[in-house]
Amino acid sequence: MKILVLNCGSSSLKYQLVDMSNETALAKGLVERIGIAGSRLVHEKEGADKVIIEQDIKDHTVAVQMAIDALTHAGHGVIADVKEIGAAGHRVVHGGENFAEAALICDEVKAAIKECSSLAPLHNPANLVGIEVCEKLLGVPQVAVFDTAFHQTMPKKTYLYGLPYEMYDKHKVRRYGFHGTSHKYVSDRAADMLGKPISELKLISCHLGNGASVCAIQGGKVLDTSMGLTPLEGLIMGTRTGDMDPAAVTFIMQKEGLDTSGMDDLMNKKSGVAGVSGISSDFRDLEKASAEGNERARLALDMYDYRVAKYIGAYTAAMNGVDAIIFTAGVGENGADTRKGICQYLGYLGVALDDEKNGKRGKELDISAEGAKTRVLVIPTNEELVIARETLQLTK
Ligand code: AMP
Repeated sequence: MKILVLNCGSSSLKYQLVDMSNETALAKGLVERIGIAGSRLVHEKEGADKVIIEQDIKDHTVAVQMAIDALTHAGHGVIADVKEIGAAGHRVVHGGENFAEAALICDEVKAAIKECSSLAPLHNPANLVGIEVCEKLLGVPQVAVFDTAFHQTMPKKTYLYGLPYEMYDKHKVRRYGFHGTSHKYVSDRAADMLGKPISELKLISCHLGNGASVCAIQGGKVLDTSMGLTPLEGLIMGTRTGDMDPAAVTFIMQKEGLDTSGMDDLMNKKSGVAGVSGISSDFRDLEKASAEGNERARLALDMYDYRVAKYIGAYTAAMNGVDAIIFTAGVGENGADTRKGICQYLGYLGVALDDEKNGKRGKELDISAEGAKTRVLVIPTNEELVIARETLQLTK
């Protein structure tokens, strides 16, 4: 079966067509700036040059149709007919407490996704639009795979905040965690690489991309993760604050005369390594600036490494040990200096890097020095493959 994997954002759409007979991505693409001037589709067929189509893309219906057209195109397409697509799998950001697993889409599932929109106002409505457009254009079974689902194994003592209990009862204010699909994929791969069943392992997975989170996985179940009610908690990220004293929020609002949306913007879009450095959220820019002597770029990178190391220490304590630390996503997979910067704090855990292996890129690697007690693994994430697998499981 061929499965179309979709990740619908408010103004973007990522797609990938996966051939499940050998689990390969036949083609993938990105539609950007939907409903905004300058919209375009970038399509990549395995082993061929990128195709860029620039045109007005007024809404998600047009965007999904363009993706289907690209996939079925005589030149850069990979299938002759849309009927070759047997099912569609959607990344859905927030499943709240309703979904501990992927779900076959039906009216009740759509209603439950809608219900979670107040917890993810930027993401869930866009995810739903993608589902509804595919319903019309493809008419195949569809599956929702939730970013929060893997974390539903967290015990109450780790997911509740120290707020009045009614805040949980009335409004479901609690920690949910995100990047679950990625943490699940890399932890399964880590067990394979280590040659042990996941049920016997204590793993700490560091998904370090534009958004970033750490996850403590004990015996294949999430014990704790750094993101919370929203993807703002935890690590310092590209443009997000991560943890800080909640009282700083009202303090800054008063001092700067900000309303809730202004404060939201400051914490989500103007903070993180971009806010500290005043330069960029991209680690390549920061590393370059730091090498040229920019002190705030160095400070932002140092703060980032320190925060990740602090979480790894906390999660090692929470699990009473750790067998392996995993690095994944843009920075985790490519940022050798960041990995080194984080691991320099972890000698006490028996972490030691092999500098030569740490310098390599692009594939699954154990970058630990010979004989190091705790393994350090770099595992490229593949959320699309997990979504495709779960979709196949529920639709075959
Ligand atoms: P993601 O959200 O997983 O796509 O990660 C995107 C981030 O990865 C970018 O913003 C960069 O900061 C980071 N990144 C990508 N390539 C590199 C690289 N070669 N070295 C360091 N960071 C990188």
